[in-house]
Amino acid sequence: MKLGCPKEIKPQEFRVGMTPNAAAEAVLRGHSVVIEKGAGLGAGFADSDYETAGATMLDTAAEIFATADMIVKVKEPQAAERKMLREGQLLFTYLHLAPDPEQTKDLLASGATCIAYETVTDDRGGLPLLAPMSEVAGRLAPQVGAWTLQKANGGRGVLMGGVPGVGPAKVVVIGGGVVGTHAAKIAAGMGADVTVLDRSLPRLRYLDDVFGGSFKNGYASAGNTAELVQQADMVIGAVLIPGAAAPKLVSRAQLSEMKPGAALVDVAIDQGGCFETSKATTHQDPIYDVDGIMHYCVANMPGAVARTSTIALGNATMPFILALADKGWKQACIDDPHLANGLNVHDGKLTYFAVGKALGIDV
Ligand code: NAD
Repeated sequence: MKLGCPKEIKPQEFRVGMTPNAAAEAVLRGHSVVIEKGAGLGAGFADSDYETAGATMLDTAAEIFATADMIVKVKEPQAAERKMLREGQLLFTYLHLAPDPEQTKDLLASGATCIAYETVTDDRGGLPLLAPMSEVAGRLAPQVGAWTLQKANGGRGVLMGGVPGVGPAKVVVIGGGVVGTHAAKIAAGMGADVTVLDRSLPRLRYLDDVFGGSFKNGYASAGNTAELVQQADMVIGAVLIPGAAAPKLVSRAQLSEMKPGAALVDVAIDQGGCFETSKATTHQDPIYDVDGIMHYCVANMPGAVARTSTIALGNATMPFILALADKGWKQACIDDPHLANGLNVHDGKLTYFAVGKALGIDV
């Protein structure tokens, strides 16, 4: 099969769909790989890295779309890319179709087969192609929160780990899933005094068994949450209710009871945010002040560390890319029902129930 990877064109997207390692594996298995010149630069991969891996570099996205049987990307195809998709072509990328009727209409019209990273599942009930980005965002959250806490950025002027004779920052993580666990691990590693709150008792038991020695955990009742938020130097929002907007867990009124200059890092901002005063920000202008509390609410946090994010995503997508290339999408989906769960569009029809329900289209 011929695999093609264009340069991402969504503003501020520096990741790339295929790493040189992924290209090399595909070539080793007898496939051919075409990459748009400069596609990997944002993630630190030179064209020569891909050439060494056995890929062919092409000048334009148009050439990639015209020649490849399978297009591998990161972000949903933009309008200009959708025009280049062909009938029978396979697209493997994040799609997030439910809130995007325009994209859905174009993908249906293209006749392409579109498999979405975000709906591929695993046998533990997880989403293996979303998890790496949650790991990145979670590990990044204390890092950006620590920066936000610095005086020059409007923060409290508190050092995460303290120093001998001065206590550490108090960090509260609301939501102990993938993001929350990784955030807590890093915050604890920086020496902070960390508590993770969750509403799932099995999750709290897991956190207690595995991490009991390095951070505390608690039940996320409204009372517990309010008390800990009041004492915190940093609060990291990491909740998720699948398929729903994030619940608002810290109200504007509560800000006045917090320590002045405390930092709120709302990782759940891509689901609307879990603090009442959260609004999405960008890497260019990531923080803002509400009532003396500094908010960090960047919706695409992994973009800040494009190289790590690209490699992490590539590690997760590689087995699926190889299965699709080796077997063709039909046989690969028959053999792996978790990959089949990724199928969103085929031959002008929507094939994913939740997307159809959200958009009022028959599936
Ligand atoms: P997850 O499903 O692994 O974990 C979510 C956790 O929240 C679960 O343990 C659940 O029990 C808990 N929870 C649900 N409601 C709660 C409540 N009211 N109080 C306390 N805990 C509650 O999800 P995840 O992968 O960790 O993702 C968390 C959020 O981060 C999602 O909204 C996700 O979209 C977002 N995210 C954002 C970025 C970004 O760049 N901003 C990147 C990756 C993920």
